[in-house]
Amino acid sequence: MEKIRTRFAPSPTGFMHVGNLRTALYEYLVAKSQGGKFILRIEDTDRERLVEGAVDFIYNTLELAGLKHDEGPDVGGDFGPYVQSERKDMYLPYAEQLIKEGKAYRCFCSKEWLEKIQNETVGGGYDRHCRDLPQEEIDRLLAEGVPYVIRQNVPTSGEASFDDVLYGHIAVDCAELDDMILIKADGMPTYNFANVIDDHLMGITHVMRGLEYISSTPKYNLLYEAFGWETPVYVHLTTVMRDATHKLSKRDGDAYYSDYVEKGYLTEALINYLALVGWNPGNDREFFTMDELVEAFSVDRLSKSPGIFDVDKLTWFNAEYIRKLDADKYLELATPWFDKALAGKGIDYKRLAELMQTRTEVFNRVPDMVRFLGELPEYDVEMFTNKKAKTNPEVAKAALEMLRPVIEGIEDWTETTIHDVLMAKIAESGMKNATALWPLRIAISGLMSTPGGAIEIAWLLGKDECL
Ligand code: GLU
Repeated sequence: MEKIRTRFAPSPTGFMHVGNLRTALYEYLVAKSQGGKFILRIEDTDRERLVEGAVDFIYNTLELAGLKHDEGPDVGGDFGPYVQSERKDMYLPYAEQLIKEGKAYRCFCSKEWLEKIQNETVGGGYDRHCRDLPQEEIDRLLAEGVPYVIRQNVPTSGEASFDDVLYGHIAVDCAELDDMILIKADGMPTYNFANVIDDHLMGITHVMRGLEYISSTPKYNLLYEAFGWETPVYVHLTTVMRDATHKLSKRDGDAYYSDYVEKGYLTEALINYLALVGWNPGNDREFFTMDELVEAFSVDRLSKSPGIFDVDKLTWFNAEYIRKLDADKYLELATPWFDKALAGKGIDYKRLAELMQTRTEVFNRVPDMVRFLGELPEYDVEMFTNKKAKTNPEVAKAALEMLRPVIEGIEDWTETTIHDVLMAKIAESGMKNATALWPLRIAISGLMSTPGGAIEIAWLLGKDECL
C-alpha cells in the first residue's frame, strides 16, 4: 500500500487555535496509526496577515503537544522547501501550463473595476471579463506592463464534485463557482492554488482540514483534473465549539492552545481531551496517552457533528492527570504557582505539594487556595456558628482556650508531635475530635475549608504564626 502522508498546513497568523491543534492531532494520528509521515507546511502566501514570531509559535506548540513532524521547514525532507513563500517560483509554471491549455487565463481587471462589478453582479462574483480577451489585446496589455492575476477557467455548466470520507459525495453546480484567482498580481499563489500544487508535489495522500474548506474543494478537484493528477483522500473536520451555538472565541480567552497552557492545563490532558472532541474510540474508554491514541485511532470514528470543547470536562481530565503525576513532578510544576501567593513566606512546598496534589484541578487555581498560608484572610466570624463546622462561639472558645497552651508547649514542631500532643489533650478533655479541631482550623487559617486539616495547616504555618 501507498505510504500515508498527511500534512498540517497552518498560516502563521498568530496563536494556535484549539481547533487547529486538533486538526494537527488528527493528521498526526492518521499518519502514525498507519506507519506514515506527518508533514508541516507553512502557508504564508497571504503576506498581509503574517504575524511576526508566529512560525516559531507553531514549532513550539507542535513540540509541546508532542506532535513531532517528519518533514518541515526546520527538520527538512525530500519535498522542500516547506514554506510556501520559498516555493513562490514553483507555482507560476503550473499556472502557465493551465493558461496554455485554456484552463486558466490572465485577468487584467483593476481593483477598482473588480470592486465595482462585485457590487453590481448578483452573488458578487467576477463577471469573467478577461476570459475571452483576444490574443492581440492580451499581448498589448502584457507589453504595457499592466498588472494581472491568473484565474482558473471554471466550466460554466456541469458539476464539480469530490468525495469526503465523512460527508460523502459533495457536488456543486459549476455555474455557481467563481473563476478563482490562482496567482495574485504580486506573483504569489493564492491558498486555493498553492494547496493543490503543494499537496500534489509533496505526495500528500490525506488532506484533513476545517469544514470551512469543504465548499472550495470541488474547485480544487477541478484543478487536479485539469492537471490529470490523482486526488487525495479528503476529510473535512467539524468546527470546535464552546457550546451548541458559540465558537471558541479569542475574546473569552478560551480559543487558543496557549490560553490553556498558561492557565496550567497539562499537555497530556489537553491532547487526550482534544482527541475526544470529534472522535471516539468505539467504546467508553476515556484515557489515552499519545501512543495509545496512535494505536486506537481510525478515521471512520471521526464525528460529523460539531465538537463541543467543554472546559469543565477538560478540567476533570486535567485533575485526573495531575493526580497521576509523580510527586516530584507535581512539586516542580506547582512551585511557580505556590510562589505567586507564598514567595518568601517560608512555607514547606514539598509538604504543601503533598496536600495539594489531589486537590489541584488546574494550576491557576492553586494560588488562591494556598494564599491563606502567607496571609490570614479577613475573618468571617460567621464561621464559628457555621452548621457544617458543628460549632458555636462558646464551644469554639472552649476548644481554643484548651488548645492554645498545649500548642505553646510543643517544642518539637513536627506533624507527628503536633498530632500526638493535640489528640492526647482532646481525648483527655472528652471533646470529640471534630469539635476541637474545627475551631482550630478556622482560627489559624481564617477559612472553613483548607487543603489538609488543622494539624497539617498548623505544621505548615509554624508555631509562632499558629499562636
Ligand atoms: N492554511 C490553511 C489554514 O490555516 C490550511 C488549510 C488546509 O489545511 O488546507 O486554514
